[in-house]
Amino acid sequence: MAPPTTPTRYGLTRDELAAHLDGEPRYRLDQLWDGLYTQLAEPTDISNLPKALRARLDERLPAALTPVTESVSDTGDTVKFLWELDGGSRIETVLMLYADRATVCVSSQAGCAMACGFCATGQAGFTRHLTVGEIVEQVVRAAQRAKRVDRRVSNIVFMGMGEPMANLGPVWASVERIHADLGLSARHITISTVGVIPGIRSLADLPLPVNLAVSLHAANDALRDELVPLNKRYPLDDLVAACADYLRVKNRRVSFEWAMIDGVNDREQDARELAELCRRLQPHAHVNLIPLNPTPGYPTRGTPLARVHEFRDALERFGANATVRRNRGTDIDAACGQLAAGQAVTIGRKPG
Ligand code: SAH
Repeated sequence: MAPPTTPTRYGLTRDELAAHLDGEPRYRLDQLWDGLYTQLAEPTDISNLPKALRARLDERLPAALTPVTESVSDTGDTVKFLWELDGGSRIETVLMLYADRATVCVSSQAGCAMACGFCATGQAGFTRHLTVGEIVEQVVRAAQRAKRVDRRVSNIVFMGMGEPMANLGPVWASVERIHADLGLSARHITISTVGVIPGIRSLADLPLPVNLAVSLHAANDALRDELVPLNKRYPLDDLVAACADYLRVKNRRVSFEWAMIDGVNDREQDARELAELCRRLQPHAHVNLIPLNPTPGYPTRGTPLARVHEFRDALERFGANATVRRNRGTDIDAACGQLAAGQAVTIGRKPG
């Protein structure tokens, strides 16, 4: 399905927005821009604009996301939004409030074509790319929600539904908008990839120093071919070389995501291989460990927490840096790999 081409409220640059204010005094653009991006207001609530203009803008610049549900977990600190898009497909966004930061996990596609078997989004398949307006609006909506509890969004992770590198044009345009128009530091923006090497190389050539996260999950090709099918196209040696180049150009830390799957990638040998791979990227590679979250289409469970900590200790013994990440929003299916936007996933599910 092709993404829509009609303009939406947060899809326009400042210059493009100016075209919608034809015949208005020039200061109206400042008022509108400040209303949308500083006050995070709806056009109808931007009180220094004349009422008729507010109504016109509201009608001409529709929102791209229609709210379906909002689920809350972790005593209010994790909020998952389910949105419906033009054309009917659905996506999710997660807002996570921490003591020292507020992070929005955004989707870059409706569904995903990468087909990682353990990921609910991958199990559901690909529907379509998201537009710049749909990506930026996820951040604005989450920021509006954070503002209600007096919090400001500080970090963005492209770790929601979809493969950002497969939709890099709109993803990068939205990074630039989030940076310039919403005022977030590039150092607080992370793009996560399953390992699309041309995407990593393109990212290295783009100006802003965003963080790169790579969903590794296995440090030998045989196992990674099974877990992450794209590995067959972009095997580990080439992937590590691309990460090393990214590090060299950007001088930003590269992190590896490692979803710990019981008895699959949590053995001593796995820790040894992973540490060896990290040492090729020293001093900037960092491993994030999380126990695999349950998804309907994948039978194997996550590694028990005690073993996750042992694995972390083993990695450090072998000379790699690793952190055990706290899981957020598992009870509302908002955690890593659980975003399916309400799609019924049945692949591999046991009958009954
Ligand atoms: N497609 C990109 C962006 C998605 S990020 C990428 O793969 O990097 C979502 C992260 O959650 C990825 O690291 C993914 O591998 C991980 N993940 C997927 N399913 C998971 C699960 N069931 N439990 C834990 N992590 C999972």
